[in-house]
Amino acid sequence: MDFAFTEEQTMFRDMAHKFAEQEILPYIKDYEREEKFLRSVVDKARDLGLVAPFIPEEYGGLGISKTTLAVIQEELCWGSYSIAHNFLGGPVQPGSIVLHAGNEEQKKRWLPPMCRGEIFLAGAAVEPSAGSDASNIETTAVKNGNKWVLNGTKLFITCGGIADVVMVLAQTDKSKGPRGLTVFAVERGTPGFTSRDLEGKLGFRAANLADLRFSDCEVPDENRVGEIGRGLRNMFYGIDLARLFCVIGSVGMSRSCMESVIAYTKERKQFGKPIASFQLIQGTIADMAAAIDGVRLQAYRLAWLMDNNAPHTLESSYAKYQAMKLVNFVTQQSIHLFGAYGIIDEYPVQHHYRDAMLVSLMGGTPEMHALMIGRQLTEIDALSR
Ligand SMILES: Cc1cc2nc3c(=O)[nH]c(=O)nc-3n(C[C@H](O)[C@H](O)[C@H](O)COP(=O)(O)OP(=O)(O)OC[C@H]3O[C@@H](n4cnc5c(N)ncnc54)[C@H](O)[C@@H]3O)c2cc1C
Repeated sequence: MDFAFTEEQTMFRDMAHKFAEQEILPYIKDYEREEKFLRSVVDKARDLGLVAPFIPEEYGGLGISKTTLAVIQEELCWGSYSIAHNFLGGPVQPGSIVLHAGNEEQKKRWLPPMCRGEIFLAGAAVEPSAGSDASNIETTAVKNGNKWVLNGTKLFITCGGIADVVMVLAQTDKSKGPRGLTVFAVERGTPGFTSRDLEGKLGFRAANLADLRFSDCEVPDENRVGEIGRGLRNMFYGIDLARLFCVIGSVGMSRSCMESVIAYTKERKQFGKPIASFQLIQGTIADMAAAIDGVRLQAYRLAWLMDNNAPHTLESSYAKYQAMKLVNFVTQQSIHLFGAYGIIDEYPVQHHYRDAMLVSLMGGTPEMHALMIGRQLTEIDALSR
């Protein structure tokens, strides 16, 4: 076992941290207030190879390990979770679906331009009646000659409003339930495919989130990704990596908040002293620091297990479950320790506080992870019908 970063990981850490300092933090207030996706930051990330670097080199990525990815994600989320999600977290699931379920032609068609930042991919599973219960999909795909006709609605899709290609989970045989689902790639501009950007978001303000509609939307069979009936499994390719991103992203956000709190409480004086000199304040900082250290270790253990192809389902849920508690606790306490200054966007704590809420929804809610942990430990599935 080795807890030290390699030379390459240290290089990526420094590069990602510098990127967050120079390209994210100075503009974060505007990004957040405008609540719109800004392409310029993705273009700059692309120039450094930071767009979807998990994709193997032969398909245009850097082919780096999960641990190295986690190092990059930690530093970028130190700047902003939602901005990092535009080019690092967002492509994980749709990119993994194409990589693991797609054929050679599909991989060559979509992955290299995605890594060059020329096109965006999205993954669309969630629907009005299928949230935590992803198997309850109602969007249909009906075969008509060599084409499939899609009808349905998808909600809360990352990059859904800007995606050039969306991996859509649809029902191809209702009688087979979760085994009757298939993934289809729907390209922007296909008649019958429309999207609507969501505005007024609590967090994720510097990222695109959209609802999608498919209305008699015809796609050729060559756009079917993976086998008919294997859609649920195919859609979940990349889910573990997406969860790792949530976990280490929470660590990055929490670290940023704690650093801001330490600097601020050493500067802010009350009762004739810096507030950092009060024992109750130091106790809160200690609670934050110890919790961050714990989840950080869980995150890198998870990355290590993934890199070594070792089983990690339980460790993934442990880490995600703790990360959700961590980031909500640390960001909330940070706002509190900034006093009234915490509620205005002058300091980099407010946007982390708002993004913290989203980590609880993406990659499975706390309740879902509690049930997954419970199922593994008790061997009783609380969700069985
Ligand atoms: C920023 C963001 C980005 C997203 N990106 C995507 C994307 O790219 N693609 C995509 O398909 N989806 C995406 N989603 C949707 C996300 O996957 C869902 O929000 C998530 O799966 C939860 O579903 P839901 O919102 O419908 O909540 P619900 O499933 O309706 O849950 C509501 C509440 O009930 C609880 N609950 C549900 N079932 C149980 C149970 N059995 N026991 C106890 N509690 C339960 C949940 O934990 C939650 O607290 C995104 C969401 C957000 C916020």
